Amino acid sequence: MDVLVSLCKRRGFIFQSSEIYGGTGAAWDYGPLGVELKNNIKRAWWRDNIHLRPDMVGLDASILMHPQVWKASGHLDHFTDPMVDCKACQHRFRADKVEEQSWIHYCPATKGNKFEVPAGEPCKHCNVRRSLCPDCGKGELTTPRQFNLMFKTFMGPVEEAAAVVYLRPETAQGIYVNYLNVLQSSRQKIPFGIAQIGKAFRNEITPGNFIFRTREFEQMEMQFFVKPGTEGEWFEFWRGERMKWLQGLGIRAEKLRWHQHGKDELAHYAKDAYDIEYEFPFGWHEFEGIHNRSDFDLSNHQRQSGKKLEYLDPATNERFLPYVVETSAGADRTALVVLCDAYREEEVEGEKRVVLQIKPSLAPLKAAVFPLVNKDGMPEMARRIYDDLRGAFNVFYDDGGSIGRRYRRQDEAGTPFGITVDGQSTQDQTVTVRDRDTLKQVRVAAGQLAAYLKEKLAG
Ligand code: ATP
Repeated sequence: MDVLVSLCKRRGFIFQSSEIYGGTGAAWDYGPLGVELKNNIKRAWWRDNIHLRPDMVGLDASILMHPQVWKASGHLDHFTDPMVDCKACQHRFRADKVEEQSWIHYCPATKGNKFEVPAGEPCKHCNVRRSLCPDCGKGELTTPRQFNLMFKTFMGPVEEAAAVVYLRPETAQGIYVNYLNVLQSSRQKIPFGIAQIGKAFRNEITPGNFIFRTREFEQMEMQFFVKPGTEGEWFEFWRGERMKWLQGLGIRAEKLRWHQHGKDELAHYAKDAYDIEYEFPFGWHEFEGIHNRSDFDLSNHQRQSGKKLEYLDPATNERFLPYVVETSAGADRTALVVLCDAYREEEVEGEKRVVLQIKPSLAPLKAAVFPLVNKDGMPEMARRIYDDLRGAFNVFYDDGGSIGRRYRRQDEAGTPFGITVDGQSTQDQTVTVRDRDTLKQVRVAAGQLAAYLKEKLAG
């Protein structure tokens, strides 16, 4: 992970938030390439889930909602994680995740030597398992106590109990409270879905692993409203769709797997849930969940608000509260999956090359334009090509350093095509196009470049 984190900083994908003040460790900023990558992921999600589906519409609900929303949704009472503290160093941990980190051990079998033991494993010298604080190796951990993950703030100028509101910990509730507005205004019929992308906030006990677990993040969530009794079929349908979509982003199938939640893992709202996990450098972890939320949320909102949220089926005249199948993905975790999956170190002609083999349609930059040398009309022609392409593609102009170094920089940025204007170009108006993955170069007429890129990016 350290290698990826440093590449992300070097190339302008992701920076530590407030780095000049030492950073927060719980929030990250997307730089020029990172924001393009994340936007491309979100755009692909929006297009495939909303524009390509007649039974789906979009929404952008506010982050601050009426506080009773969180009473009805169960988040005020149940959105907690079990927290333990070290009595010596005071570090805090999520009790259910302590075993997922490596631990410091002063081994009695080796005269108290200090070792870092891999997560979940016993010490290979004394065979003892972790019982103390994993960070300092000395302190006992307290018994777990429940900690609510919602951030509190105040609505309006007075900081008093009546003004407390919460930053939403999931985008889903904005969809539930708007479901009738959307249904009536968009003239949808059940089954149909509402999707949205937006920020969510959780005061995580132990944020970490780069953008994997942060306190501010973005979700891409879809709630599909169905007739009770049909939720099982829709649940399976959406499981299939989501896995297909992720593989369509170019993520290797062998790095993806399902994890069904056991009874003890299910969130307070879920009847059944599957995570899609990716094999990150720090192990297999969830980055998307598919949940059968039944009528849990709508029935609680109906009770709490006193407003009827039932659907009248125009075909049968039946009234019912729809059941909900949810797909909930993190935009940041998906970006991390794309980055981890794309990262390669290769040897090319005796030299190490680092390359991000991001699917071209997701790549932040689609092409870079280089004059081979800064004379003989090459920069002028390269500039013209750059200006022509800019209207349709996010392209980059680079005339600094040797051509080999310029290629390497774009390999690290994941740019799929390198367009070079050389001596021949000014004679016959052709350029070379280098493919990031195969390293093959072809000559293309300068006037055909836009069509060439369009075809390659669509593929
Ligand atoms: P975890 O068990 O890792 O805390 P969760 O089961 O609480 O995750 P969900 O409530 O199902 O997660 O949220 C849906 C998605 O939102 C997750 O799959 C993940 O991609 C994203 N997500 C949740 N919490 C965070 C976080 N703290 N930082 C970044 N993304 C997050």
